[in-house]
Amino acid sequence: MQNINTRLANIKAEIQAACEAAGRAADEVRLLAVSKTQQVDRVEAAINAGQMHFGENYLQEAMEKVDALPDVNWHFIGAIQSNKTRDIAARFDWVHSIASTKVARRLSDQRPANLPPIETLIQVNISNEAQKSGVVPEDTPALVDDMLQHANIRVRGLMAIPSPSDTPEAQRKPFDQLRLLRDEIATSRGLENFDQLSMGMSGDFHAAINAGATWIRIGTAIFGPRESKQ
Ligand SMILES: *Cc1c(COP(=O)(O)O)cnc(C)c1O
Repeated sequence: MQNINTRLANIKAEIQAACEAAGRAADEVRLLAVSKTQQVDRVEAAINAGQMHFGENYLQEAMEKVDALPDVNWHFIGAIQSNKTRDIAARFDWVHSIASTKVARRLSDQRPANLPPIETLIQVNISNEAQKSGVVPEDTPALVDDMLQHANIRVRGLMAIPSPSDTPEAQRKPFDQLRLLRDEIATSRGLENFDQLSMGMSGDFHAAINAGATWIRIGTAIFGPRESKQ
């Protein structure tokens, strides 16, 4: 079994190679270590290896880790029920999974005054799948416009979890669609800081980097296979 240190070093080397192949600077792509289901000591091992950004999906298990390790950056990447927004607003630096005006407004209203605005991304159901969370592409510009009204969130870009495909070409298609949607929104509204794209996981991050990802969200390739809960 490889340890977290080795896996992190490997993944960073792969990111660098993918950036070079895509003609992008290596610092344009940031690595989010998805630590859902991992214990605090495994997160600490990743921190000791230099990792500073961690993603969590389940608020209940995340709170313990965030409170134990407050000096790194925490990103919420899971589905958000509106009764959970207060705890998210108090603990997270980034939220990648905004899918409604209500959640966005609550996060802004509930952000503690001593903290900077939360960096937010809208989760887009880019493949228009009936069972998937996120807003459909057609509704995304209106959600951006609504979110821009709120003082304590910064509207930074888009996130997607396309359904898995096997070939690099098929993987790339929804990522290209997400980038085009982001560009269209940024240009039509003159938003200079609407520049982030959270896309790509352990199985498809090469294609995501090719298509313009700025955050890739990696769990398994850093921490190894997860037990039970996905
Ligand atoms: C679990 C998860 C990841 C990481 O997936 P891996 O395949 O383990 O890299 C990324 N993004 C989201 C939203 C997730 O839920």
